[in-house]
Amino acid sequence: MEQLYRYLEEGFQEMVEIRRHLHQYPELSFEEVETPKLIADYHEKLGHEVRTDVGGRGVVATLRGGKPGPTVALRADFDALPIQEENDFSYKSKVDGVMHACGHDGHTAALLGLAKALNRMKDEMEGNIVFIHQHAEEIPPGGAIAMIKDGCLDGVDVIFGTHLWATCPLGEIGYRTGAFMAAPDRFDIKIQGYGGHGSQPELTKDSIAIAGQLIVNMQQIVSRRVSALDSAVVSICSIEAKNPYNIIADSVNLTGTVRTFKEEIRNQIEKEIERVVKGTCMAADADYDYQFTRGYPATVNHKEETEFIAEIAESAPTVTSVKEYEPQMGGEDFAYYLQQVKGAFFFTGAGIPGRESYPHHHPKFDIDERALLTAAQVLGTAALEYLKKK
Ligand SMILES: [Zn+2]
Ligand SMILES: [Zn+2]
Repeated sequence: MEQLYRYLEEGFQEMVEIRRHLHQYPELSFEEVETPKLIADYHEKLGHEVRTDVGGRGVVATLRGGKPGPTVALRADFDALPIQEENDFSYKSKVDGVMHACGHDGHTAALLGLAKALNRMKDEMEGNIVFIHQHAEEIPPGGAIAMIKDGCLDGVDVIFGTHLWATCPLGEIGYRTGAFMAAPDRFDIKIQGYGGHGSQPELTKDSIAIAGQLIVNMQQIVSRRVSALDSAVVSICSIEAKNPYNIIADSVNLTGTVRTFKEEIRNQIEKEIERVVKGTCMAADADYDYQFTRGYPATVNHKEETEFIAEIAESAPTVTSVKEYEPQMGGEDFAYYLQQVKGAFFFTGAGIPGRESYPHHHPKFDIDERALLTAAQVLGTAALEYLKKK
């Protein structure tokens, strides 16, 4: 393990350079071209078996150990977001309106650096390591499900992945057994009333007034219909009825998100929303259209593998604390891998010391790059310890 840490230390500067390069040339989900090319080239130079265009734009590289053994998969995503960067450093995004505002540039750089270090140790390795570089994590249906269908998990015994987390302190590893990240779903509601003159509401079915009631009624779903011991969020995030000041709106569109951890609560809320929409519209003699679109399932970590991460993380030189985290309401398509094989997804603290961190997806989002080394150390330790253990 000392050897791994030395190799990673030697490769750290290159990790930072790769991260900064990717940061300057971010690519949107499902539109990645140069990023997967860079990744594939890097692995090819190391002599790894490389598959490109996996499930669309994903890259899978395999490092075979000198001795037989199990296969560990390590995953990093590489897509960016439609955000105009407001940071001021020299390596800020050169692409208008596109930014690595979630740290996926760092995930990729850390995994490439780790691949190089592990490659130097391959002769002694008892088993194989599969590097899953995934496109399109940010937009459902996401890249994971297509990569799995295209065989990225074939022969894989266990999978580990991490997310750099800017609002957690540098050096901290956060883990949780069971449901760690939520299922992020979307709903779209159209209230179809009957428009008319603002002076004669009695001749209309005022869709804005109905929407007002609906918003209030929907607050009852989580507070009155879901057990206090279960977690759920129903947020209406947009409402639209653009009209002149003297015309009553014919229709109103509302969209929002639902976050849950349990499949039965997810199914229940999907139905509850429709019941409330139907009832509210019926009371006003209006029509409606309702759509519930499922995002990723909840990310549910396996017990043994999560405890394993918590245990081995202690030994990584740059890790200063290992903590059990509360479940997160954000979503992650790492969920799909965990439905297929055993594994764990954890957070690597990436906050910049002495500074307040901007949240993920913020135009001023930034990470402390030393977290790349921490992430690589923990993933590398997990891979090697797992091969040794089995
Ligand atoms: Zn994100
Ligand atoms: Zn992310």
